[in-house]
Amino acid sequence: MKDLNISARFIKGVGPSRLSTLSHLGIETIYDLLYCFPARHEDRSSIKKIAEIRPGNFETIKVKALTFGDRMSKKGMNIFQLAVGDSTGVVHATWFNQPYMKDKFKIGQELILYGRVEKYNYLQINNPEYEILTGTKEDFVHIARIVPVYPLTESLNQRWFRNIMKFTVDNYVDEIREILPFEMRKRNNLMILKEAVRNIHFPVSDLVLKKARERIIFDEFFILQTGIALKRASIKIDLSGYSHKLEGDLIGKFKNDIPFQLTKSQSKVIREIEEDMKSQKPMNRLLQGDVGSGKTIVALYALILTVQNGYQGALMVPTEILAEQHYRNIKVLIKHLGINVMLLSGDLKEEERRRRRQMIETGEADIIIGTHALIQEGVNFKKLGLAVIDEQHKFGVIQRAILKSKSQSPDMLIMTATPIPRTLALTVYGDMDVSTIDELPPGRGGVKTFFFEEKNRDRAYNIAEEEIKTGRQVYIVYPIIDESEKLDLRAAIKMHKDLSQRFTDLKIGLLHGRMKSKEKETVMHDFKDRKIDMLVSTIVIEVGVDISNASVMIIEHAERFGLSQLHQLRGRIGRGKHMSYCILVSEPKSDDAKHRISAMLNTHDGFKIAEIDLEIRGPGEFFGTKQHGLPELKIANIIRDRDLLELAKKEAFELVQKDRFLRSPENKLIRESLLNKFSKEDLALASVG
Ligand code: ADP
Ligand code: MG
Repeated sequence: MKDLNISARFIKGVGPSRLSTLSHLGIETIYDLLYCFPARHEDRSSIKKIAEIRPGNFETIKVKALTFGDRMSKKGMNIFQLAVGDSTGVVHATWFNQPYMKDKFKIGQELILYGRVEKYNYLQINNPEYEILTGTKEDFVHIARIVPVYPLTESLNQRWFRNIMKFTVDNYVDEIREILPFEMRKRNNLMILKEAVRNIHFPVSDLVLKKARERIIFDEFFILQTGIALKRASIKIDLSGYSHKLEGDLIGKFKNDIPFQLTKSQSKVIREIEEDMKSQKPMNRLLQGDVGSGKTIVALYALILTVQNGYQGALMVPTEILAEQHYRNIKVLIKHLGINVMLLSGDLKEEERRRRRQMIETGEADIIIGTHALIQEGVNFKKLGLAVIDEQHKFGVIQRAILKSKSQSPDMLIMTATPIPRTLALTVYGDMDVSTIDELPPGRGGVKTFFFEEKNRDRAYNIAEEEIKTGRQVYIVYPIIDESEKLDLRAAIKMHKDLSQRFTDLKIGLLHGRMKSKEKETVMHDFKDRKIDMLVSTIVIEVGVDISNASVMIIEHAERFGLSQLHQLRGRIGRGKHMSYCILVSEPKSDDAKHRISAMLNTHDGFKIAEIDLEIRGPGEFFGTKQHGLPELKIANIIRDRDLLELAKKEAFELVQKDRFLRSPENKLIRESLLNKFSKEDLALASVG
C-alpha cells in the first residue's frame, strides 16, 4: 500500500520551488493533490477536420506538422509559427514570446491541437494546447478528451499542473480507500470513491463526470451532516442548564405593558423559547426573522423571564449605536418592573467602567446590554442565565463561545436577520434549534424600491425633499471599503457639505464610524427627535437602527454593497405607517452587481434575498465558514445540490442513531474522516478515544 499522506514532492515534476507554490494553494501531500478538484472541465474530445472548424470557436484538430519558423515582430516579440494540415486544409499555429517552442516539433510529426480559431488571410490558432502523437500513447492529458481546468493562481501553468495531476491520479488514485458501507452506496446509487476521484479529474465521459461529482458532493455533505448529527446527539443528553419557571408577577406585568399586540409568529416563537428555558437542557436556539419583524421584543421577553428566575440576562449587539438604541427602548418598555438595565459600552471612563463591572459582578445589574465590551476579560457575571446575541452574522463562533463561557451553562438565543429557508437552516446551523418569525407586524406602509443611474441622482434628492416636506426623514448612505476607508469617509463628509449648501432650509446630519460614541449618540438622538431631516451616513447604520418616521433610504454606489447588506439597509425604512422609498443610485458594471440590484428591485422578501445572496456568493462566503466552525465544502453547493444534501443528511442521522460513537468496524473510516474535519471534543467522540 502506498501512503497518500506523504509530501507532494514525490510526484514527478514537482521540485522544491514548485512545492512551495503548491503549498500556497494549500497542497502539501499527495492526498491534498488528489482532492484539489477542477474548477470546471472543457470538452475537447470531438476532433474535427480543418474544413469543419469555424473562426471564433474553440476546436480540436488532428494534423501533421508541415513547416515552421520564427521571426521578430516590430515590437520585438518573438513569433513562432507552425503550419499544420490535414487532408482538408492548412492552419497556422502561433506562439508568442515562446521561442523555445521551435525545439518541440519535427516536420512530419502527428499532432493534436486545441484552441480558439482566428481568421486572418488564413486560419490561425494562437497559443494552442498541443499533444504530440507518438504512436503508442493514446492516453491524452490536455486535448482529445474532456479536460480538467484547475482553480490556479495566474502564475501557475494549467499544462504543468494537469501533467502532475495526471501522474498523481495514474499512480495513486487506487490507494484511496472506500469510506462508505456498500449498502449505503447501493441505496444512493453512488460511484465507488476512487473511481469518483479519478473521473472528477480525467473523466471518460460527461455522464461519468456527473456521477463522479455526485459521489464527491455526497461525501462532503455526509461528513458535514454526520458531524452535526453527533453534536446534536451529545446536546440531547446535556442537562447542565438552568430550568426556568414560566409564570410570575414580573413576566405577567410585562405582558400587560407591551404597547402592541404580538404577531402570531412572535407568540409562537415565545412559546418555543419558553419550552427551552423550562428545560434543564441549555437552550441553543437560533431566531431568524426579516428586518423589522420584531425580534427585539421576543428577546426581551426571554430576558425578563431569566431575571424573574433570579438570573442575569445579557444582550450583545455589534455596534454602539444599536446597544444605545436597545438600552433606551428597553428601559421604556420595562419602566414599571423595577428591573435594573445597564449599558456597557466600549469607551467608558476607567472609573465608570469599573463601577459598572462591579454591578455586573454583584448581581445589581439584571439586564446588561453591550457590544464586544461584554465579553472582555474582567467582565464577570454573578449568575448569567440567558445570553442573547443580536445580528449574529456580525460575530464569530469564538465571540459566541466566550459569551457562553461567562456562566456555567446559560441559555443561548441567537438572532439573525439573514434568514434562510428552514430546511437549510437546520442543515447549516445543525446543532441549533431554529425558530422563525415569518411575518411583519401589521400597519406598515410598505417600501418601494427604485434604481437610478448616477446622472439621475437629482431625482432621488427631489423625492427626498418632497418627503421631508410632508414631515418624513431621510437616510443617505455611503459605502466604506476597508482599504480606501479614508477616501470614502471624505466622500461622505463632502456630500454632507454639498447637501447642506444645496438644501439651506433643511437640517442635514452626518454620521460615520470615526466619530466618538458620544457624538454618534447625539446624532442618533437628534435624528430620532426629528432635529435632523436628512442623515448622511456611512454603513454604521446598517443593522438594527429603528426610526419609524424615516421613509427614504438613498444608497449611493449601491453596486459596492453585498445583497444582504442592501436588504439590511432597506430594512431601516418602512417601519412606520407611511409608504417608504428605497433608492439605489448606481452604475453597476459586473454581472454580480447587476444581479444584486435586480434582486433588490424584484423582491422584498428576506428569505428570497438570502437565498439569492447565497447563490451569488456561495455558502463559504455567505456563512463565513469561520463563523460556524463548519468544514469547508469544496464543490458541494447547498442550494444547487439540495437533493444530495437531503440524501446525505438522512444517511448521516440514521448512522448516528445506530452507532452513536461510530464504534463499529465498518464505520471506522467514516470516523477517521470526521476527525480530520472536526475536533474530537466538538463531536463528543472523545470518550471512546
Ligand atoms: P428586528 O426584528 O429587525 O430587530 P425590531 O425588534 O427592531 O425588529 O422591531 C421593529 C419595530 O416594530 C419596532 O419599532 C418594534 O417596536 C415594532 N414591533 C415589534 N413587534 C410589533 C408588533 N407585534 N406590532 C407592532 N409593532 C411591533
Ligand atoms: Mg433588531
